[in-house]
Amino acid sequence: MDTLPAKLQAVMARIDRVARQYGRDPTGISLLAVSKTRPATDIRRLASLGQRAFSESYLREGMAKIAELRALNLEWHFIGALQGNKTRPIAENFDWVHSVDRLPMAERLAAQRPADKLPLSVCLQVNVSGETSKGGVSVTQAPAMARAIANLPGLRLRGLMTIPAPNDDFLAQRRAFRGLRELFEQLKTDGLLLDTLSMGMSHDLEAAIAEGATVVRVGTAIFGERTSG
Ligand SMILES: *Cc1c(COP(=O)(O)O)cnc(C)c1O
Repeated sequence: MDTLPAKLQAVMARIDRVARQYGRDPTGISLLAVSKTRPATDIRRLASLGQRAFSESYLREGMAKIAELRALNLEWHFIGALQGNKTRPIAENFDWVHSVDRLPMAERLAAQRPADKLPLSVCLQVNVSGETSKGGVSVTQAPAMARAIANLPGLRLRGLMTIPAPNDDFLAQRRAFRGLRELFEQLKTDGLLLDTLSMGMSHDLEAAIAEGATVVRVGTAIFGERTSG
């Protein structure tokens, strides 16, 4: 049975339902399909259903898919951990990076972005749960880092991203996302031109949308359980 179209449809219906429930315009929330570990054939099929934005966490794997699917003109987002010796292919081939959490990485991406391309759209990854294992700057470090990134040519700081600690409680999920939204609003009040709150995954996209997410990053709910990665 062909479940990919049905799953994509179900995720879009979840986004639509929760947006209306919280008085938000569903068109203000975009679905980023998390295609890490998934074959290019699945991406091709989703693209034929109208899904344009895909994201990858592992550089080599992502580069292979970008090359294979070049003719489809998809939008590619890098969401994995950044390493200094691997920024160049990201700067050259991706449209977005959601996982910027160190200034030297931002500086490398900025310097390596080809001059004939639009600036690379980036989000500052913030750790709202205070875990040491997850990437992201602390809420207190974020404003200075955001200002520094916003000043780099070659990059366009679009907003903030977070991966909160897993939690099954809706109100606890909301609390974490609210922390990111409040920071986002503070940065905008301080004069930064931001339009993106990248938060919410398969298990917590409702809470994220309730708190203002503009991009939800969804893998499992579209493609099924991952066997690795
Ligand atoms: C894997 C991943 C996701 C998707 O998670 P699912 O639970 O499969 O929806 C979202 N964001 C990031 C940064 C990821 O690494």
